[in-house]
Amino acid sequence: MVDVVVVGGGICGCSLLYELSRYKLRAVLAEKENDVSAGTTKANSAIVHAGYDPHPGTKMARYNVEGNALVKELCGKLDVPYKQIGSLVLAFDGQQDALVRELCARGEQNGVPGLRVLTAQEVRELEPNVSDKVTSALLAPTAGIVSPWELAIALAETAVKNGAEVLLDSEVTSIEKTDGGFRVTAGSHVLETRFVVNAAGIWSDRVNDMAAPHRFTVTANKGEYYLLDKSQGTLVNHVIFQCPSKVGKGVLVSPTVHGNLIVGPNAEDAEKDDHGTTGEGLAFVKKMAQLSVPDIGFRDSIRNFAGLRANTEIDDFLVGETEQKGFFNIAGIKSPGLTSAPAIARDVVRMLGEAGLPLEEKEGFLDERHVVRFKHLSHEERAAAIAKNPLYGRIVCRCETITEGEIVDALHRPLPPRSIDGVKRRCGSGMGRCQGGFCGPRVQQIIARELGVPQEQVMMDRAGTAIITGETKGGCTR
Ligand SMILES: Cc1cc2nc3c(=O)[nH]c(=O)nc-3n(C[C@H](O)[C@H](O)[C@H](O)COP(=O)(O)OP(=O)(O)OC[C@H]3O[C@@H](n4cnc5c(N)ncnc54)[C@H](O)[C@@H]3O)c2cc1C
Repeated sequence: MVDVVVVGGGICGCSLLYELSRYKLRAVLAEKENDVSAGTTKANSAIVHAGYDPHPGTKMARYNVEGNALVKELCGKLDVPYKQIGSLVLAFDGQQDALVRELCARGEQNGVPGLRVLTAQEVRELEPNVSDKVTSALLAPTAGIVSPWELAIALAETAVKNGAEVLLDSEVTSIEKTDGGFRVTAGSHVLETRFVVNAAGIWSDRVNDMAAPHRFTVTANKGEYYLLDKSQGTLVNHVIFQCPSKVGKGVLVSPTVHGNLIVGPNAEDAEKDDHGTTGEGLAFVKKMAQLSVPDIGFRDSIRNFAGLRANTEIDDFLVGETEQKGFFNIAGIKSPGLTSAPAIARDVVRMLGEAGLPLEEKEGFLDERHVVRFKHLSHEERAAAIAKNPLYGRIVCRCETITEGEIVDALHRPLPPRSIDGVKRRCGSGMGRCQGGFCGPRVQQIIARELGVPQEQVMMDRAGTAIITGETKGGCTR
């Protein structure tokens, strides 16, 4: 018997599994894709929001501010790239000056520390490359940037190390009520469980409707991005926002934790399977971003991508037990969901406890993680690493200086990647200027060798993204 089945391995599901793994209970996460962090969690702005935007009294406001501190703490413990660089919301006229002051007051009500309204002169001293049309800005020193997929992976890996289970390629297709709880069908698995928590992102309405009365519909809203080369990564020092509106937080310009510059997103309603970017959407993003930072070198764009917001009719997160006792939702988790997820997870564990889940803490809960990042080591540390494991001496991804040792490490951690993009999310190989053009085939060979599978079975990303489709001239070379 399982105690809790978590549906969905995005940042919400992984945060919850991590929190559950502190206790003496059986927790199982079912994810439909071949990796965690394969949904919206891998395609967003990667900002740890300070918490001045959500309206006071909402779940969003509370979880955002609590989550902001928790993300920082978790990234430190679990060795996830994070930087507290602070954010600026720019104003360009008198009306926006007033909005900036309103955001400051709202943030103070939400308990956001250190907020300050800056004059145009102060903004330019901090950020020489922002537009000279800026009239004022809100400074939020607690805002940060993070690697969202690495945070989700780190949480899931730590949960697995502590005894939780992750079932990949296991789409939940039915949830039946039983005497003791629920019978969940997840891929080839049938799980008898006491509790179910639905954290299925844009598909959370569909999962809700398997077990509980229909109370909400998720509509997808797409945000498109430019990711620019490291040559642009120091153009700004803070996350540069525009004033938020009803449709979103505006187009931002920000450094990433990997040293690039991210620019986006727009906000367009979309189908739930539409992850593509459009010329029109990207042109809008570019035009809006240039209002904040006129000299962005868009010729150094190395990738475009899009993420899908999980919008519902309700202007807040849906977190809690449904009318079907024992079935909980973490649904409608749009921005700032990445920031809020750790706080949501803690609160849901508390609710599960109140609903009868025994929460007896494990002794010896393993709450740390260390990842070798060769390029960040000193010369002496590199020499020592290579002496211990010569695979650290072989550079596989030349753009990002990622070694074979790091890729092999990732393939032997508690939740090993199965695809080239899975390795990329863990090690950063293929994230540079050539976007995996050179290292991709080599990474594919290493995955095949380490996991003992034929090379042609190693996908680019999710199921169906085969790279090798057949043999030519008497067989593929190994
Ligand atoms: C454009 C954009 C920008 C954003 N920027 C930020 C930001 O800067 N900061 C911030 O805090 N937040 C941001 N967000 C919000 C944040 O990205 C999301 O709130 C968060 O990633 C949602 O996580 P999740 O776990 O709920 O969903 P997901 O990451 O989508 O995870 C849901 C998982 O459930 C799986 N699944 C679905 N159906 C099933 C099923 N039947 N069985 C098994 N598995 C299933 C999916 O495959 C997926 O892996 C942004 C969002 C977007 C779209």
